Amino acid sequence: MADLILRGVSKRYPDATAVDGLDLAIPAGAFVALLGPSGCGKTTTLRMLAGFEDVDAGQIALGDRVLSSPDTHVPPEHRRMGMVFQSYALWPHMSVAQNVGYALKLRGVRAAEYERRVREALESVHLAEYADAAPQALSGGQRQRVALARCLASEARVVLLDEPLANLDRHLRASMEQAFRDFHRRTGATFVYVTHDQAEAMALADRVAVMHRGRLVQWATPEELYQRP
Ligand code: ADP
Ligand code: ADP
Repeated sequence: MADLILRGVSKRYPDATAVDGLDLAIPAGAFVALLGPSGCGKTTTLRMLAGFEDVDAGQIALGDRVLSSPDTHVPPEHRRMGMVFQSYALWPHMSVAQNVGYALKLRGVRAAEYERRVREALESVHLAEYADAAPQALSGGQRQRVALARCLASEARVVLLDEPLANLDRHLRASMEQAFRDFHRRTGATFVYVTHDQAEAMALADRVAVMHRGRLVQWATPEELYQRP
């Protein structure tokens, strides 16, 4: 059953049509890679999904709820989406635990439950001992695990990842790929994963959306893509 639906979504900038009539129906719990060369509109698509950008045409819906259309814009904090971006700024003035719990606090979750969910989320990414640390004290891989913990604590239904491995060394990439797979399996969340790296898309995703000049040019499983010339 399709859960996250983009219908004819477009985004124009003065000098470029970044996304041009994009149609996608993403099943609940899928791990989808948005794949394509630099400039094809991947990041703009993700930012529209997150609610950081509005849409010029078309519609984005999650379940039966319209999140974006030319006259609807649900703000990011009300989308049930989590974000793991390449250089995603954890709030520098908050501890690791406060970053993880931020969305819960906004929602007014009670203290005992807040403490429990933040602790469990940090334990699940093996960072419990860093709860009181400042984000700046953590390595790149650790910061991404904090971002995953934040998705977990806030029970994100969709997790958006933008080239999350791009700045990491080879050893760390392998361990983060495993962390993404584990997290995806454990939570059943829908993953939308932006990359320009075909091997990475094939290794991680169960569905690949290939974009070119703001349009969808292929929608296939990795196996189907392997069989094509
Ligand atoms: P990708 O993530 O695939 O590299 P982007 O979504 O970043 O592609 O960009 C798609 C197109 O939109 C590019 O031509 C880019 O220059 C343009 N673009 C993206 N963001 C902006 C912006 N904020 N202002 C103007 N043009 C933009
Ligand atoms: P993992 O536990 O998944 O292997 P970590 O994020 O704990 O990954 O650390 C991976 C690498 O990052 C290690 O090689 C470590 O030396 C390095 N590292 C740790 N802390 C920092 C830091 N504050 N700044 C830069 N690199 C760091």
